[in-house]
This record gives sequence, C-alpha cells and structure tokens, in this order.
Amino acid sequence: MTTTAAPESRAFEADVAKLLRLLVHSVYSDRDVFLRELISNAADACEKLRYEAIATPALLGDDPKPKITIAIDADQRRLTVEDNGFGMDHDDLVASLGTIANSGTRAFMERVAAAKADAAEGDSAQLIGQFGVGFYSAFMVADRVDVISRRAGTDQAWIWSSDGQGSYTVAPIAAAEAPSRGTRIVLHLLEDAKTYLERYQLERIIKARSGHIPVAIALIDKPGGEAAEVGSGAALWTRPKAEITAEQYTDFYRSFAGQFDEPLLTIHTRAEGRHEYTMLLFVPGTKPFDLFDPDRKGRIKLYVKRVLITDDAELAPRYLRFVRGLVDSADLPLNVSREMIQDSPVFTAIKKGVASRILSEIEKLAKSDAAAYDTLWTAFGAVIKEGLYEDFERRPQLLELARFKTTASGAEWRTLKDYVAALKPNQTAIYYLVGEDPARIANSPHLEGFRARGIEVLLLSDPVDSFWASAGLDYEGKPFKSVTHGAAELDLIPPLETPPAPDTAAGEAVTRLIAFAKDALGDLVSDVRASDRLTTSAVCLVAPESGMDRQLERLLASAGRLPGGSKPVLEINPRHAVVTALAARSDDDKEVRDDAVRLLFDEARILDGEPPADAQAFAERLGRMLTRGLA
Ligand code: ADP
Repeated sequence: MTTTAAPESRAFEADVAKLLRLLVHSVYSDRDVFLRELISNAADACEKLRYEAIATPALLGDDPKPKITIAIDADQRRLTVEDNGFGMDHDDLVASLGTIANSGTRAFMERVAAAKADAAEGDSAQLIGQFGVGFYSAFMVADRVDVISRRAGTDQAWIWSSDGQGSYTVAPIAAAEAPSRGTRIVLHLLEDAKTYLERYQLERIIKARSGHIPVAIALIDKPGGEAAEVGSGAALWTRPKAEITAEQYTDFYRSFAGQFDEPLLTIHTRAEGRHEYTMLLFVPGTKPFDLFDPDRKGRIKLYVKRVLITDDAELAPRYLRFVRGLVDSADLPLNVSREMIQDSPVFTAIKKGVASRILSEIEKLAKSDAAAYDTLWTAFGAVIKEGLYEDFERRPQLLELARFKTTASGAEWRTLKDYVAALKPNQTAIYYLVGEDPARIANSPHLEGFRARGIEVLLLSDPVDSFWASAGLDYEGKPFKSVTHGAAELDLIPPLETPPAPDTAAGEAVTRLIAFAKDALGDLVSDVRASDRLTTSAVCLVAPESGMDRQLERLLASAGRLPGGSKPVLEINPRHAVVTALAARSDDDKEVRDDAVRLLFDEARILDGEPPADAQAFAERLGRMLTRGLA
C-alpha cells in the first residue's frame, strides 16, 4: 500500500448514520461530554497497550509512559486529542468507527426510538448525557473529524476522516504526519463550539470529568506551546483513604464508570494478609438501563499492580452486578492469560472477599441510613433477591437485607424481622402473593381471608420473586407460603370480626352446588371446594397442594420452559350472595346452574389476570344470563 492511493470511501452502518443525524441536530446543551468520551477512549487505548506489553515489551519502544495530550490551535479552529496507546490499523478503524460497537450507544438508540414513539421529543437530547454515546459525540462540536492512528507494532499509519454526513474515508498516511504510536483525533470545530479553544474551559472540563483517570493528561494551548499537566494520572485508589475527599470519590466514580449520578455507597479498602488487594467500589445512585439484560457482564474492572487486566471480570456474584469500580491485586500473576487469571485460586479468594465486603457495607448502610438504604433497595432489590436462591451461603444475610411491600406496609418497606414480630397467634408461615402488577395483587381476592384475620401478606411483584419464594426457604423457622397455594389453613386463626353462624340447610345446598360444579367443570379444574380465603369475592383459583405456584408456572410457561396449563382448584365463597342464591335454586335448573358455574370459573380466571377459557362461549353465556336477568 502506498501513500498516494485514493482514499477508500465507505458508508456508515445505518444506525451510525441515524445517531450522527441526531447528534448534529440535537439541542443537547451539555456538549462538554464529548471530551470525556474521547479522553476515556484514549485512556482505554493506553491501558490496552500496558496490558499487551506484558507479553510483548517491545511494543512500548522508547516511549513507555502512557500519556494523553490535548492541543489547541485557535487560528485553525482545531482541537486535537492524542494518545500514545494501542492505536488502530485500517481494519480496526473500519470496525470501530463505522459501526456501533458500544452496547451503551446501542441502548441509547433504542431508548431514543422509544422516546420518539411516546412523542416525548427533547427527551432524546437528555438521553445523550445519560448514556454517553462514545466517539461519535465528537460530531456535536465538529463538522469534520480526522482520526490519524498507528497501531502499536505496525509501520503503516492510517487516516480516517468524516464530516458526519453518512460516509467516511480511510487512507494510508505518511509516517511523518502520524503519531509514532497511538491515535490523534483532530476536531475541526464548529463556529459555535469555539469555547473549546479556551484553555480554562478545557481545564475545567478535564478536571471535572476526567480528573482521576489513571493516565496523565497534558494540555498545549497553542501550536508549539509548552505541555502543562492537567491530570496527574495518579490512580486514586492507591492513595490513603484519609487524603481523599467525598467530592474526589464522586469525580472518580463519574469519570471511571461513565456515570452522571452520585454514588449511594463508596467502598474503599485494602485487604492485607494472605492476599493483598485494594478495592474501590461504588453502588450507583440510579438503576442502569440494562440491569436485567441477560448478557450484561459485571462492571468491576480488574487491575494487577495498576495494569488493567479486564473490564468485566466476574469479581462479584451476579446478584451484585450493579456494583461499579475496580479491584487492584498485588499478587495475581501478570504474565498469564485473562482466562487463567480468572481460574486461579487467588482470584477465587478475592471474589469471596469482594462479595463479603460489599454485603457488609450494604448492611452497615441499612443500619445507619434508612433513607439511603430505601433508595438502594428500590433500585437494586430486585437483583439482590436473586441471591436468595443463587447464594446458599449468604442467604441468611440476604434475608435480613430484604425489604418488602406488604398488606400492612403502605408505602414503607418492611423487613422479615418486622413481619415475624407481627405474626398472629397460631400463624406458622410467612404468607406471600406473587404477581406482575403491584396494584392488581394488592386487590387480589386471595388476600381477603388474610385481611379479615389481620394476617400480613408479602406482596411480591418482581419477576425473580416467584423463584426464590417457591425455593423452600424459611426465616426464623417460618416457611414461605403462597396464599394462592393449597388449602389456606386459616381455620386456626379467628377472623377479627366473627362471621354469622352458618345455616345448616344453606350449607348443604352449597355442598351440592360444589359437587355440581366439580362435575360441570370436569377437566378444567382439579377440584372445587369451599373457601376460607374469601370474604367479599365469590370465587378464586388456587394451585393444588402438590402443584407449582400459579404465577411461577405462568412465568416458566411463557419462557417456554414448561408446558403450563396444570389444573387449578376453584374455591367458592359459601357466604357470597351469588353463591347462596345459586345454591338455593332447584337442582333441576341445570342450564342456569351450568352457565353460572362456568361464568364464575371465568370470573376467577379474569381476577387472576387470565382471559376466559373460551372467550366466545363466555360471551354467549354472559348474554344468556343478562337476558334472563333483564327479562
Ligand atoms: P466504546 O469506547 O464505548 O467502545 P466508542 O464509540 O467511543 O465506544 O469507540 C468505539 C471503538 O473505537 C472503541 O471500542 C475502540 O476500539 C476504538 N477507539 C476509539 N478511540 C480510540 C483510541 N483513541 N485508540 C484506540 N482505539 C480507539
């Protein structure tokens, strides 16, 4: 390849073109983020080089110290961000800067599309700040961007260039015009972005947003000018805790993790003893958008003696995947592959230490700052609860940390300790109800008998709840039991208000009605019986004693992991007006009874959030009943 070859022109991937249009036309006011994104890419490239140089020291040549240089050329209205990191060759440039490599950027695009559908314009501009859209944010401030790069260990340098209008070019470039290693990004600034040619502006942005990246940053304020250090490149975590202010921790968290919020919890400790390592970890103040993405990796970076080994080491259990930050080990081997490191016993020991530490700090927060803990639980409780069935060893600790909405909690969170302290005499279980929609479960007929007896019920509406709650756990010797499961065992606990004494004749009629219903419904149910659970509703469906909780079964069936459709038990409220009236009708009135029983069954399904068993037949029956009633 020669330097005179015509530049090769390529179109951006469709999504990139869309993103660029958005950035160019956006009214997003906080354009400063572009600098943080470019500096963060430069720092990553420096860390990648440090890592590769462990195996191939020659890559460092005579320029071993990683650095980022930012240069202003006011006359040409140009801003340059240069690093001596790993660099990119032709194929890297095409793969990285013509497509959307970054999962955060992809999620951003999806959110923008969703915001558009909601007709919430302007929101999409705000999203830019929340997600950080990486390299492409340069086009918010520049109408042309040149990326001149040479990959470490190669001779040929390349120039990538684009005006952000749909296509870009890549061409070889003469050695003299390129950095000897790494990447130079030249921004031809827009007229209205001239503020980024002012030294104090750049210093302010760098200090605020990139002040703690582990690579030194220098600023040159005019061509041929002196380079002045802006960031020291000192890794914050290596400094003693006492010397670090809360503000510095927050700055570090923001620049290191690319976050915009305040951390809820900062954990900075040094483990000494058998293994020596430092951890600087943060619990974010807000919930990330991809917390439940099954492909989401851990976000704790692993360093060995200040060299970044990997971004996504599984350093904490999955149910703590919201934790951000890093672990820097002094005694993991540097000269083996990442995979081997992750398999080593030292790594396993560190992992254990990290999980224990995070949980004990979360515990401390729960004791010392209830309001902050509420925020933490509201954002991450649904994830932490996964630990209840994944982490057998720490289950008791997790049960203490868990918070619940209950029939007695109102807007507050309740602990299991609170729950157990409020047990009714003879109550032997911790009752819960699972469902998807918090409002619907709070109004479920299943709760009536429990409410009538003043028995508290946990209201669970996170997808994970079905799993742990039916895993056979107990707390202080009390098993968890679904109120929709099996017989309710409520007869030992008296209602708060005594119900009227049963009338034997009416009781017998209801018994006959139940027998009739069992016969009429046949295969649709596994049983029909009188209910203790119901006080105001006529009917409800419950799972048979031997069966699976209905909500869990629905979840597994919808995930294709179970055939679904096991037969429920229909419970009938013997005191309900519809039931007593129906029971009082002559046994010969088969047609009305049959319609009524089937309608009650469908009513129970609807109350459970399911459609009637046969919508057409349901409509016909309802029509017949209405006609009879209106005639
Ligand atoms: P992200 O950095 O989140 O992956 P970007 O859009 O910012 O997303 O960058 C895309 C890719 O381009 C990076 O993953 C990296 O491979 C490459 N890249 C960007 N800037 C540099 C740089 N200064 N040096 C080397 N590679 C870079």
